[in-house]
Amino acid sequence: MEKKQYERPIIKSLNQGLMNKFGSRTEYTPMTHIDGCAVKDLLEEYGSPLFVMSERKIRDNYRNTKRIFETRYPKVQFAWSYKTNYLNAVCNVFHQEGSWGEVVSRFEYEKALNNGVPGNKILFNGPDKTDDDLRAAIKNDSPIHIDHLDELYRLTEIATELNVNPRVAIRVNMDTGIYPMWDRFGFNYENGQAWDAVNKIMANGKLKLVGLHCHIGTFMLAPNAYGIAATKMADLAKSIKNRYNKMVSYIDMGGGFASKNTLKGSYGLGADSVPEISQYAEAICSALLNAGFDNDELPYLYLETGRALIDDAGFLLGSVISNKRLSDGRRATILDFGVNIMFTSFWYDHKISPAQEFGQHTEDSVLYGPLCMNIDVIRENVTLPPLKAGDQVVVHTVGAYNITQSMQFIALRPAVVMIDMKGEPHVIKTKEVLETLEKGEVLPDYLSKFSL
Ligand SMILES: *Cc1c(COP(=O)(O)O)cnc(C)c1O
Repeated sequence: MEKKQYERPIIKSLNQGLMNKFGSRTEYTPMTHIDGCAVKDLLEEYGSPLFVMSERKIRDNYRNTKRIFETRYPKVQFAWSYKTNYLNAVCNVFHQEGSWGEVVSRFEYEKALNNGVPGNKILFNGPDKTDDDLRAAIKNDSPIHIDHLDELYRLTEIATELNVNPRVAIRVNMDTGIYPMWDRFGFNYENGQAWDAVNKIMANGKLKLVGLHCHIGTFMLAPNAYGIAATKMADLAKSIKNRYNKMVSYIDMGGGFASKNTLKGSYGLGADSVPEISQYAEAICSALLNAGFDNDELPYLYLETGRALIDDAGFLLGSVISNKRLSDGRRATILDFGVNIMFTSFWYDHKISPAQEFGQHTEDSVLYGPLCMNIDVIRENVTLPPLKAGDQVVVHTVGAYNITQSMQFIALRPAVVMIDMKGEPHVIKTKEVLETLEKGEVLPDYLSKFSL
């Protein structure tokens, strides 16, 4: 018989309640492997902490979501939201699956082009496109999603000067019953701004209005909001058809579907309580199908889904540095990764699993990162077995936004590994070193010497 690991007895204060209808939270089931790779081996090989992406999970998520939409609507096209995770390996998995690119900045645009996405399959969004960006997009025939009137006028001027008719869509914002409204982007539907922008485009004849775009929010918990948005988009498309006898070729519903993460303060675990993709799909597809378009003029449905496709394909592996008792007696565990690489810990209670077997004891703990900063809290309160220095953990559902929003604050950023379909790990981004951080720094000569 294998000898059981010794665990020191602990005295634990009893907390009332905190049971909900899903039972008490059992987040500490060990996770020793990801797609067949041992967490222990990955950390030994590539260092701790380490981001791990599961190619299998990305492809599964994509195929599943695509199937759900395609069974409900005949013309569907996905465009990968680069800012959600723009590691080239990740983007290329999506492109291999047939997804176009959706970008909100010039460097993302260049990334998509460099990845080999044809220009006419890169949707250019965002409020900050320079004249130079617009020229590049025109040259590559990329659909330009206009955000505001100044952009509309500048683009008209450039189109006139180049004597071309760029393909454009307008970004539309609207009241979907979810507040605060994301009305800082695009043209408002209810107050007539969107209709005004349409009329300006149609009147000057320089821009080719091919689509309508919206992105109503992010981590949206109400599928019905998408139904309302799709209905308003369809109404706008029909008004264009009525007045100009021209049908837009696509309606882009953006992204914003919730991932399986748990928002702070929510009642159940996100994995149990966020809407299913099929609920969003049902709301959107029914609204478009029932809007009254002629069958041969049904617009394409574009989707720019980000976090819902990638969040649970990303893991952050790390190690315990130390334990201590806070002044109120609570157990505090210090991990070797902080909020500089786990930005989303500000609004999610990420699921965290120990990466090795444990006994029956658990204790409420606070999990801190290694940064010298009080806000470096990974979990404010989580029930875990007593982790000790050197133990390893797996943070779940970190595939969206953490890598793109990470920064070198106190700690450099770790390597990222992708585990392929056969269970082989590949480095897709190397661990940063001091030179990475100092690249681009310039030290003026006169500051190069001192004596102390
Ligand atoms: C960020 C963004 C997305 C992706 O949003 P998710 O919430 O990650 O699905 C899609 N479209 C636009 C315009 C965006 O800005």
